[in-house]
Amino acid sequence: MRPRIAVIGGGPAGLTFARVLHRHGHPVTVLERDSAPDARPPGGTLDLHANLGQLALDKAGLLAEFRALSRPEGQAMRILAPDGTVLRDWPARTDDRAHPEIDRGQLRDLLLGPLDVQWGRGVTQVVPGTRDGVLVGFADGREEAFDLVVGADGAWSRVRPALSPAAPHYTGITSVETSLDGVDTRHPDLARLVGDGSVAVYGVNRAVVAQRNSGGHVKVYAQFRAPLDWHADLDPDDVEAVRSHVLGLFEGWAPRVLDLLRHGAAFAHRPLYVLPVSHTWAHVPGVTLLGDAAHLMPPLGVGANLAMLEGAELAESVAAAPGPAGLDEAVRAFEERMWTRAGRWAKITAAGLERLVSPDPAQAVALFDEVQPS
Ligand SMILES: Cc1cc2nc3c(=O)[nH]c(=O)nc-3n(C[C@H](O)[C@H](O)[C@H](O)COP(=O)(O)OP(=O)(O)OC[C@H]3O[C@@H](n4cnc5c(N)ncnc54)[C@H](O)[C@@H]3O)c2cc1C
Repeated sequence: MRPRIAVIGGGPAGLTFARVLHRHGHPVTVLERDSAPDARPPGGTLDLHANLGQLALDKAGLLAEFRALSRPEGQAMRILAPDGTVLRDWPARTDDRAHPEIDRGQLRDLLLGPLDVQWGRGVTQVVPGTRDGVLVGFADGREEAFDLVVGADGAWSRVRPALSPAAPHYTGITSVETSLDGVDTRHPDLARLVGDGSVAVYGVNRAVVAQRNSGGHVKVYAQFRAPLDWHADLDPDDVEAVRSHVLGLFEGWAPRVLDLLRHGAAFAHRPLYVLPVSHTWAHVPGVTLLGDAAHLMPPLGVGANLAMLEGAELAESVAAAPGPAGLDEAVRAFEERMWTRAGRWAKITAAGLERLVSPDPAQAVALFDEVQPS
């Protein structure tokens, strides 16, 4: 009898896990809270590293399709000072496959492929060690039992409490996201400013970052240090009030940088939360975590990459495991490997965030000098 395996969450971690298991001919139940793939906007662009996200796609047999969809030119990066002076300009290198960009929606569709996801199945809790196995409780009151439950349900995981009391905490840095559509025709000056990839502007405890997605769509992130309730006096539905408040935080910055915010459509408040660096737990048979559910870290271009590689590695270990005892050993060994790698990245990204939104903007430029090819 094959073990009954469920993965909770259809993000990069859960879908990669399911897709690699599927490739190995192993049945897996994918349970996703969203009612449909396009129930909400998929979010911005992701850069997938050759040794992380792309390796995972290779394990899923999807690397060639990824290469056809991804945008190597999206690796272009420009840094400005708040007065608009260009400080750094790394051009697009279309032959460079180190970390090309892909829209999240495209990545999701690529991973979904033949998978039979159960949409609209929000999980409320997971109870390990029952007579039937691991019991999964759903928002509609139903319950189902599995032999292995993989929590890939993101930052606010409902699976995590079965393993660990840890909860995400606020970093003190918030991000307000807006976007521009049809940038090449409607805002050609801003299209030139953003270029093929990203433009980032670093000031004292503040940053504006704009990233090109496919189809002339640009996502803009205003990042700043603020208490969690910085917007308590603002009506979040009053777009102009939010815009005016955010523009006020960047007073004196170059008009063409502020235009990124002036022309943005709606604004979304995304405070940056993290789990404790080096988050681990005492192994519990039948339950584990992947991706943000296990190690939420600052968004410095690695979270989805780790999530996907973990999904692929766990799936390969599970597919190769001989019998129920072997399955538990495989999960235990996987956790050790995940903790070591994620702990290293959690430290790097936590230190990186402090430098990107810093009292000394030169720190942000220095950070890019360290990681960009010269
Ligand atoms: C602005 C920004 C930019 C980023 N850029 C990059 C980048 O360039 N490269 C990179 O590697 N990373 C990037 N990241 C990080 C990346 O987005 C995350 O690390 C990644 O999405 C984590 O994947 P996941 O599958 O673990 O979780 P998620 O993507 O959060 O997916 C979780 C899934 O679980 C579902 N779910 C949640 N709760 C339940 C429930 N109770 N029951 C059932 N389903 C549930 C959700 O609907 C969702 O589909 C960025 C993050 C941000 C915020």
